[in-house]
Parts: sequence; C-alpha cells; structure tokens
Amino acid sequence: MKIRYFDHAATTAVAEEVKDEMLPYFTENYGNASALYDLGKKSKEAINIARGRVARAINAKPNEIYFTSCGTESDNLILKGIAKAYRNKGNHIITSKIEHPAILNSCRSLEKEGVRVTYLNVDKNGFVDLRELEKAINKDTILISIMMANNEIGTIEPVKEIAEIAHINNVIFHTDAVQAIGNIKIDVKKLGIDAISMSAHKFYGPKGVGALYVDENINFVPIQNGGHQEDDKRAGTENVAGIVGLGKAIEIANQGIEEYNNKLLNLRNYFLERIRVIPYTKINGDLDKRLSGNINISFLGVDNRDIMKELNKKGICVSAGSACSSGFIRTSHVLSAIGLSEGIARGTIRITFGRENTKEDIDYLVDTLEETIKKLRIQN
Ligand code: PLP
Repeated sequence: MKIRYFDHAATTAVAEEVKDEMLPYFTENYGNASALYDLGKKSKEAINIARGRVARAINAKPNEIYFTSCGTESDNLILKGIAKAYRNKGNHIITSKIEHPAILNSCRSLEKEGVRVTYLNVDKNGFVDLRELEKAINKDTILISIMMANNEIGTIEPVKEIAEIAHINNVIFHTDAVQAIGNIKIDVKKLGIDAISMSAHKFYGPKGVGALYVDENINFVPIQNGGHQEDDKRAGTENVAGIVGLGKAIEIANQGIEEYNNKLLNLRNYFLERIRVIPYTKINGDLDKRLSGNINISFLGVDNRDIMKELNKKGICVSAGSACSSGFIRTSHVLSAIGLSEGIARGTIRITFGRENTKEDIDYLVDTLEETIKKLRIQN
C-alpha cells in the first residue's frame, strides 16, 4: 500500500542529496575530529563547513553555532546553561504555556533548583500577549524563551517584537525554532534573536543531530562534562555524518524556502477548500501567521484515535491533536491553552504537508476523511 505522509512536523525523510553527502562519513572519512592526523582533520573540516552553512542560513557567525544531538538537547543546554551562567544577575525565566515539552520540562527542572518561571498565557489563536510579557519582566529576569512557531497549531509568534521587549529590559531572548527552520527565513541580526534551537530531522536532515545558535556576547555553562569539543560548550565526540547532513539540509532548505512555502500554501489552501465537504469541523490556530504546511483541525463528535486508526488502514499518516496515555486521553496542553474544550480537543488531528505531497494526495486524504468521519459519526 502506498504511504501518504502528512506528519512532517513530527519528522521528515532525509533528502537524497543530504544522504549522499553524509555517506562517506560513515565508512571512509570516519576519523575522530579531535585527532591530529589527516583522517581526523577531514572530519574537523567537514564539521567546520557545516558550521559555516548553518551560520550563513541564519546570518550568524560560525563561532556562534554549537552542534548538539537534537532540538531537545539544544533547548536544555540554553535554558540550563543561561540559568547557571547568569545566576548572580537573577533567577527568573519567562516562557509560554504552549512551548514544547523540551522547554517546559527544562523549566520545571530549573524550578526545582530555585529558578522562578513565568508561563505566559496565549490567546485563542496561540499568540502570547506582549503586554503580559512586559508586565512579567522584573529585575531578576534573565531570559525570555518563546518558540518561533508552534508544533501543534503552527502559530508564528511575534519574535521580533519579543526580542525588542527583551533587549529594552536587558534580558536575553531565546527562541525554539525547531519547527520554523526551513519554513521561515531567519536573520538573527534583523530579528534581534540571541539564541535559537534547531533540529535537522524537521528539515529533511537526519535524526539525532541538532544545533544551537548563541550570540557571541552571551555566556552559557555547559550541562555535559567531558572533552573540549564545541568550544568547551558541548562535550562528546561529534556526530560527524549527522552534522554534515544538518549543514547540507539547512543550506538546501534556505535556498528553496520561498518555493517551498508557496507549494505548501497551495496544498493547504486546496485542503481547506476541499475539506468543506465535511460539516462540523473547526480549524485551530491563526490562519494568517501560521506555518504554511500546518493544519490543526477538530471534527466534532468523533475521537481522534478512531480517525487515526481508520486513516492508518488506508496508509495515511497524520498526528493526534491530543494524545492518549495509559488509557487516559491527555488533552494537549496547547489546545487547552487556546481554550479548546476537552470534547473538541478529543476530535482533533494535525496534518502537516511537506515536499513530496501532491494535490492528488490531498484528494485521497479528504476522500478518506469524508468517508471515515461519516462512518464514525453514524456509529457514535
Ligand atoms: N521543539 C519543538 C517546537 C519541536 O517541535 C520539537 C520536536 O517535535 C522539539 C523541540 C524537539 O526536537 P527533537 O525531536 O530534535 O528533540
């Protein structure tokens, strides 16, 4: 059965060109980048080329890029690293209620060590309130961490304005751009961002490799002890093939970003037009300031687990808007934060389009959804 994949916010397939660049670093150029002979130097050079590519993609300097193992590690490293480095200045962090668990759980872990965290509310479309942000800042605030784009509802936060507020108040601004990189053109200088988390597998690179940009004037303490890799900020032998893949993937993504966005927007608009055949649906999140490939949709009166079971039988991959854990429905914290009732959240799925999707795929998706929802509503 042909697989129709609509879960690009979860992960993406590695692009052929990315894989081709990575392959030699598994079997031929396998030297440890810290070694002083030529085989080691080849790995070091490859890492430096990738660092340059990441820096160029976001208008940063190569010495401001650190490679990590994933987006989660980048988030942990910056939050915990800044909390430690600026402990003498203050112990207050501001974030939002709709961040990814990599941020939320890092904050909870810091709270156990005495750091105070403010979790900002969002409105019905998922936007943080800038006035609430301003009010939350106090003399102890050292860091604001607000995501660039939400992974569930695709809402794009006003990061430029947030950065301005942060800097007026002499506070560092970090953004988790794991969902945004490859979808939104990012210029750290123009946007005034001090730190950014990224993850290769969200933009057609490999899993198990991420990166962190940190402005060279900002200090952070490493959270992992060991060797001197990554300028003493992230110990551990580098995942050379993964880093090479991340570098290539970000370069490709950035070069084709406009074309990619246009393609995804066309697919999304086509989906929105066609999905009208199904009554009683609700699109969640903002329709304007939103990742172009994201749809978050609630089907009233049905359970998303049943929808997904039926779609899976037809080879369709989408994601649940709220997850079931140990037999309980756990309403997504994002859907709760935008005010969705548990009943509506229960019928919510996330559809995220990507490079290989076509209009024909969407026809198949909508036809299958129409049939499925009709059947489930009759059963209920
Ligand atoms: N932050 C956001 C917004 C994400 O969507 C994800 C992954 O879904 C992460 C962080 C974690 O990234 P990784 O899977 O590379 O650990």
